[in-house]
Amino acid sequence: MNHYGAEEFEGVDLRSASTFGAVPDEFQRLWTPHRLAYIENGQQPSKDDCPFCLAPEMSDEEALIVHRGTHAFVLLNLYPYNSGHLLVCPYRHFAMYDEATVEETAEIASLTQEAMRVLKKVARNDGYNIGMNQGRVAGAGIADHLHQHVVPRWATDSNFFPIIAKSKAITALLGDLRSAVAQAWREQN
Ligand SMILES: [Zn+2]
Repeated sequence: MNHYGAEEFEGVDLRSASTFGAVPDEFQRLWTPHRLAYIENGQQPSKDDCPFCLAPEMSDEEALIVHRGTHAFVLLNLYPYNSGHLLVCPYRHFAMYDEATVEETAEIASLTQEAMRVLKKVARNDGYNIGMNQGRVAGAGIADHLHQHVVPRWATDSNFFPIIAKSKAITALLGDLRSAVAQAWREQN
């Protein structure tokens, strides 16, 4: 078995990302230009090509969105630290947490709590890492558009760096996971 906690996902077609490691080229065709904004080294997208601004304009399936709120939405991270890694994003393009309005702050908090409950139900994880990287110096990949990470953790996933090193974004796999999380979210509300 793997160390991803993937065995916890009942009814979800998950395979260990490490099994794909030998054939990285096979999946490059699945990447789409807006998603390249995630990985272009050292380059911050402008508001016009910001992946978190573009995502809400796309279908839930294409953007990996699991829930749309009033001021913020929740999507699966295309480059997850762990299976089920969610991002809570305001619709509005701003960088720093202290720039959020009262309404945005409240909804980011409540969606983070809902994400915890949904993940617990779908992924049956043992814990979470929750937080925001504020600014590039703090490790934010898309520093200009605030996003809160909600990362499920399992007792068996303690080898954190091997997870990062071996994880690959497999669009089909993330699609199955998106469906499962989105359905659990609807059932919760
Ligand atoms: Zn943005």
